[in-house]
Amino acid sequence: MPTDHAKLSASASHRWLHCTAAPTLEAQFPQNDTKYTKEGTLAHTLAEEYVRKLRGETIECPCEVDDPVMHECASKYAAYVMSVLASKSSDAALFLEEKLTFGEFVPHGFGTADCLVIADDLCEVIDFKYGAHVQVSPEDNPQMKIYALGVYAEFGQIYNIERFKLTIFQPRMNDEAQSWNISVADLLAWGEWMKPIARAAYDGPGRYCVDTDVCRFCKANGRCQGQYDHYKGLFDMADQIDPQTMSPELRAEILNKANGLKTWLNKVENGVSASLMLGETIPGWKIVEGRADRKITDAKKAIDVLTKAGFTESDICETNIVGITALEKLVGKKKLPEILGDLLVKPTGKPTLVQESDKRSALQLSTQMLDAFDDNNE
Ligand code: SF4
Repeated sequence: MPTDHAKLSASASHRWLHCTAAPTLEAQFPQNDTKYTKEGTLAHTLAEEYVRKLRGETIECPCEVDDPVMHECASKYAAYVMSVLASKSSDAALFLEEKLTFGEFVPHGFGTADCLVIADDLCEVIDFKYGAHVQVSPEDNPQMKIYALGVYAEFGQIYNIERFKLTIFQPRMNDEAQSWNISVADLLAWGEWMKPIARAAYDGPGRYCVDTDVCRFCKANGRCQGQYDHYKGLFDMADQIDPQTMSPELRAEILNKANGLKTWLNKVENGVSASLMLGETIPGWKIVEGRADRKITDAKKAIDVLTKAGFTESDICETNIVGITALEKLVGKKKLPEILGDLLVKPTGKPTLVQESDKRSALQLSTQMLDAFDDNNE
């Protein structure tokens, strides 16, 4: 019987397909629920309930949620699922929170798919995502492909599935569902390609792959020897330095690595703080009370007391207009520029260093810009 958490979960597959060292290392850390994972679990339960209600089922113990955004998202998800079902023939099959095993491709692999709709030769795998910061794409998404492999293992003998439609519904990022198609033949070929990598990741110790994106949600992030070895290489570069100046290539390489280095240093710092808060000893470091500014606890009362003490309101109060985002909410996104006219401008952003892969085109630099850049950097 599988335990609650697979060593190689589908949701972490992006990580272990790149860094086969991660699962073994992560197994040393406890499985802690964060505010975000708890919120995600609740949103999924509510979303499932909404679909079941639309299907006419009675929910015996409905979950208690008083967050209107979560209700709205769950309702949109349920409407999407029902629209997919309605577009299929009457013998279409719907599965909610379907437990899947994909051990043929991923050692001891199992997981739960939010929703499957199987009709004719197509199976749509629908994944509800509650995240509001990073839009997840279904294109070539390993988590979705692993679920599809699990579906094929479970239902391939029963239904004549020839194609998969992999759909991510992430209502806090996009009202439209995002889908990507793959044939069973291509899916199985990918599964075969993945097998040895999954085996290496399961058996350990595996090979490190240090990358900000890959490491972001790893439990070992900030404690991993692989990261240390990777970033200390940055300083070994000193050997390559020309007696007098660094080459443009070397300066670029330092910046490439430094991007991840800053994130890593933050992780190390946060990790050390967390360890100290938990009572661990970290040589040479301790937690102290941070500096804090004085503040007025009750502004209205303070104004009252000060005016009674002889000060005028104009002396002690200042009026500031609220920020543009708050104004947009109040007035409306379209109406605000109409009303404000020339009073609302967007100043030119200051020249900013980014990598070549950034979508913005390179600036045509002018003398004024160079002067301003020099002034800002003196
Ligand atoms: S922190 Fe990064 S390099 Fe280290 S195990 Fe995790 S994913 Fe791999």
